[in-house]
Order: sequence, then structure tokens, then C-alpha cells
Amino acid sequence: MKSVIIVGGGLVGALQACFMAKRGFRVDVYEMRQDIRDMEVVRGRSINLALSTRGREALRRVGLEDIVISTGIPMYARMIHDLDGTRRPIPYGKADQFIMSVDRRHLNELLLTQAEKLPNVEMHFEHKIVACDFNAGRITFSKSDGSHVTAHADLVVGCDGAFSGVRQQMMKKTLFDYEQVFIPHGYMELCMEPAPGDKFAMEVNYLHIWARDEFMMIALPNQDKTYTCTLFMPFDIFKTLDTPEAVLAFFRDKFPDSLPLLGEKYVTETVSTSKALPLISVKCSPYHVKDRAVIMGDAAHAMVPFYGQGMNCGFEDCVVFDDILSKHNNDIAATLKEFTEVRSVDAKAMCDLAFYNYIEMRQSVNSRLFLLRKKLDNFLYWLFPNMWMPLYTSVSFSRTRYHQCIANKEWQDRLIRRALYMSVPAMAALGYCVATRTRLLDAPVSETIQQLVERLRPTWI
Ligand code: FAD
Repeated sequence: MKSVIIVGGGLVGALQACFMAKRGFRVDVYEMRQDIRDMEVVRGRSINLALSTRGREALRRVGLEDIVISTGIPMYARMIHDLDGTRRPIPYGKADQFIMSVDRRHLNELLLTQAEKLPNVEMHFEHKIVACDFNAGRITFSKSDGSHVTAHADLVVGCDGAFSGVRQQMMKKTLFDYEQVFIPHGYMELCMEPAPGDKFAMEVNYLHIWARDEFMMIALPNQDKTYTCTLFMPFDIFKTLDTPEAVLAFFRDKFPDSLPLLGEKYVTETVSTSKALPLISVKCSPYHVKDRAVIMGDAAHAMVPFYGQGMNCGFEDCVVFDDILSKHNNDIAATLKEFTEVRSVDAKAMCDLAFYNYIEMRQSVNSRLFLLRKKLDNFLYWLFPNMWMPLYTSVSFSRTRYHQCIANKEWQDRLIRRALYMSVPAMAALGYCVATRTRLLDAPVSETIQQLVERLRPTWI
């Protein structure tokens, strides 16, 4: 039986353990933290996550989709909170299309337990990777008591997150491209308690957004009827909110309708004393070393969280990897090579899309032109469901390859631009015909219009 070491027992590592073990590999998972199932409080990133089609497909394949869906909360639309308190929904897709708010800790625990149910999986908590010799298949871990252990395997899978130790070891090799960006915006989480009567404080099946052009706050519902609100903002603005008075003035000015729901005391104390956390985007290539090691999830492609795709993309890595293994009959060398070729193109595209969606969420949703375009996209999607898939739909509700989602959006934009160009001379020509027919225009004026039409006509028509 071939052996695999998975470094990182987070969302992607625990899922990959399920996939590899189901294929009959001997799997050892080494995780830096203690077992989160025994912890009272788990520190780390966002409390809840938006799960969509790609992530669901992965969970379905390991038999966890139903349980995750039954414990999540569907969100059918964005709910935009305008400055004057008006709330307006913008649906994500068709009436039956939704993303799911799921609890990160619960999901990670489910995945760890599912992996452990398989007899060929063993978990090793409080093991931090310190060195790798890929050629020898040897990895050294430090334990919490300061001692070191060495483990061997045929394949090392690095699922150890954005600051991956496995990736650092791979970077020592030549011809490894790496790009990392910290954006000038950070994030801070706030908790909105249930309203009196143990009810949700806002409409429940929505992802709430307070879009304020330069920054935004969002809120996702939790099973316990709380909302996790996340404030995304330039660090320069966070720095100015260092006293309760400054925070209060800021929230009264920018998010007035959220204040009574969050509570003035809670908001002012939390924001003025907490530190905003950074957001990183990582692109790299290749994802593998010969037939010895591969990285997946945030280790390979950490992205800013604005499309809600980081975990979904990481989960899809496991599906794509599994499909390629099947195609190559479990041949590791061929699989790793193809995995890099296929996946790095798509993950890079997704990293770009994630940046783009920050602008859409914090700014574009306030623009009439954007809303008009959304309506047009939805109409064309309804008219030509196999031809015209809006960008958000293809990213969140399909498994269209990410780079193809961008290519689709580009040709749609081109087509709409051309239609608009063509409509200008067409309208002018129409006006001209009507005017001359009804003899409203005298000859010189009609000639001028004719010249105008000629000038406006794009060369390619
Ligand atoms: P991680 O979750 O980071 O897990 C890595 C694991 O490796 C951890 O358990 C860690 O302890 C362990 N580890 C690290 N270093 C070592 C080491 N040296 N040795 C051993 N173990 C190690 N994604 C979505 O799809 N939808 C969302 O709505 C969404 N919202 C987000 C909101 C925010 C604010 C942020 C920051 C991210 C969000 N994401 C979202 C992205 C998502 O959190 C990540 O993409 C996802 O957690 C990646 O999973 P992973 O297993 O690759 O990495």
C-alpha cells in the first residue's frame, strides 16, 4: 500500500485525507494545532464560510454533503443596506440557487471525524513541519514538548495553509514561481446577537452587505441565530478608530442601521481595542515536486475572501486531483504533473476574480449601470441558459473551470459593447429615416445626419 503524509488537518487537509484513504492509500495527517474537537475556543479565521457548488461536490463525494447542508443556512441573495437604512436584495442567481453559510469549526470537525472513520488514516496533532527531504520522502516535525519526530512516505501533500511550510521547502528548488500580495485592507469580525425572542436580528436567508465604496461590512447568519459581521477596510481607516468615541462617530456616519443591532457598547469597545487582520493572496507554480510532493488549498493559492471561493476552490482541488488519479490509474508522477498544469491556471484565475469581486461588493452594487447589467445578464441567461451564464453563476453555481469563467465574461462584455456601438448608428439611422419620410428635415440637415451616421459607424461593421 502506498503511503501519504498530509501536512495540515484544516479544511482541505482533512478532506484530502478522506479522498486518499478511500482510494486505498495509507494516510497520516500531521497537524500543528491540537485537535480542535477537544478545544473550547478555536482561534483563527472567519467563523462562518459561504459554501457553494464546487465545495458541495467535494463533500458529496466523501458522503458529507447532506449533513453539512442540513446544518447550514441558505443565502439566496445579497441584502444591500443603503446609508439611509433602505434594504434591497440582489439575487445570486435563479430562485433555487443559493450559497450556504456554514460553521468553519463544525465543518472541520466533521471532516476530521469522517477521515478518522477510515481504518487506513491516522491523525497526529501538535506536529509542526520543520524540514522536508522530498527525494527521500522524509519529513521532520517538531512536537509541542520541543522534541522532533521523522516520518517517511511515498507522497507528501501540503495542505498547511497560506503560510505553508511545505511550500517554503518547495521554494528552495529552482524554477519555482511565487507571488504574494498583502492588500492594504484588513478585516475585523463582530458578532450580532439574536434579537429579543431569540430571533435573527435581520432577514435570515441573505448575505447582508453595507457597501460604502472604499470599504464594506458584511454579515452571514449562524445556526444559533447570531450573525458574524466582518468589517473590511483600509488599515489606515482602522488606525483612526482607536477610541470608543471615534468608533461611535464612524458607525453612526457609515453603518447607522447596524448600531442598534450590534449594540453601541459592544461595537465601540470591540473595534477600538481589536486588531484588524491582514488579507493575503498567493500565486505560485508548479504545485508539485516530481512524484514526491504536491500542495493544495491555500498552500497553493491563498486568495482574498471576497468571492467566498477560497475553501470551495481548495475542496475542488481534491476533486480534480481525485479525477486525475483515476485517469492515470493512481500513477502519482503523471497525476502531479497534470494537476499542476490544470489547476494552477484555474487557481490563478480565481485569485484574480477574488480581487475583482471586492470592487463589485463594496462599490458596484451601488451603481445603477451595474444593476442594469445584472438584469440584462439574468434575462439573457433565462433566454439562452446554455450560452449566456453570468459570471457569478458560473463561479458559484457551476464547475466551469475558473479561467473559462473569465473568458466567458470577456466575450459577453465584448458582445454587449458591440451591440451598444451598433445601436448608436442604428438609432441615428432610424431617426434619419423617420425624419426624411415624414419630411421633418430639410435636405442640408438630413445630409448632416447622414454624415454623422457614417462617422459613428465603427469600422468593423
Ligand atoms: P487552512 O484552513 O489554513 O488550514 C491549514 C491547516 O494547516 C491548519 O489547520 C493549520 O493549523 C495547519 N498548519 C499550518 N502550518 C502548519 C505546519 N507548519 N505544520 C503542520 N500543520 C500546519 N472560503 C470560502 O470558500 N468561503 C468563504 O466564505 C470564505 N470566507 C473567508 C473569510 C475570511 C475572513 C478569510 C480570511 C477566508 C475565507 N475563506 C473563505 C477562505 C478559507 O478560509 C480558506 O480558503 C480555507 O480555510 C483554506 O483551507 P486550507 O485547509 O487550505 O487552509
